[in-house]
Amino acid sequence: MKIDILTIFPDFFRGPLDYGIIRRARETCLAEVNIHDLRNFTKDKHRTVDDRPFGGGEGMVLKPEPIFECLESLGDLAPRSERISESAKQSVIVLSPQGRTLDQSLAAEFSVLERIVMICGRYEGVDERVSEHLADREVSIGDYVLSGGEMGAAVILDTVIRLIPGAVGNEASTRQESFTEPGVARALVPANAPNSTCLSGGLLDYPHYTRPADFRGMPVPEVLVNGNHEDIRRWRRKTALTKTLRNRPDLLKRVVLTDEDRELLNEIRSLQSVI
Ligand code: SAM
Repeated sequence: MKIDILTIFPDFFRGPLDYGIIRRARETCLAEVNIHDLRNFTKDKHRTVDDRPFGGGEGMVLKPEPIFECLESLGDLAPRSERISESAKQSVIVLSPQGRTLDQSLAAEFSVLERIVMICGRYEGVDERVSEHLADREVSIGDYVLSGGEMGAAVILDTVIRLIPGAVGNEASTRQESFTEPGVARALVPANAPNSTCLSGGLLDYPHYTRPADFRGMPVPEVLVNGNHEDIRRWRRKTALTKTLRNRPDLLKRVVLTDEDRELLNEIRSLQSVI
């Protein structure tokens, strides 16, 4: 996958690009990431990238010219009309709090693309003609306002790259994580995965423990050390449901619950009403 990031703060990406999974994906050529300084596409001696908004109002707006020219300098980029088609293999994204909110299924869609370009806004935002005529979508990383798109681009970079086959050492682990839709998970979890492993199926992940079995008087749940895979699987599903009910009840409306899930939820609810 080739990823280009357009920004006025190219040094911001030194950290995110140089550690862990992203670094390894770059070193093994699974992902090529190029950072482009928008100031290199200005023509005045002050390298101006922003200007006052038409119509008055607060703040400054990122000018369209450096963004259009930077994008036009990138090779092999499909025209916008092709990028908005169903079968598109490329996407040009404007980071914006007004965009579609990033979630695991959008990240999965991005992870099968060949090319992603991300445009990072600053100040009051980006001249709207960039979204209207150059980019094919706006993406937000959540309902809050950041000072710039760089943080969002780094978040997309991380969540998408770890879904590229081969980027994470144990690929199956990325398929059983929180939010992963059953269809995505089933396609990639090996048939020989232990039967105690419980796919999230769109819920939050189950709790994880490691050695020591007893840490400062806090023991690991007994069921995890008794070696009974069926008991472990059922415990994991129940704790995943408990955590989802407590922290993200909205997710329960979207997942397809099995008969066992409904039975476990009844157990959890009756326990909660006793407490
Ligand atoms: N005036 C804009 C508004 O109220 O919607 C906010 C602009 S924000 C201060 C500056 C830039 O930060 C945006 O152009 C965008 O690139 C980035 N940004 C801010 N919040 C974001 C979010 N939640 N997701 C993605 N990018 C965001």
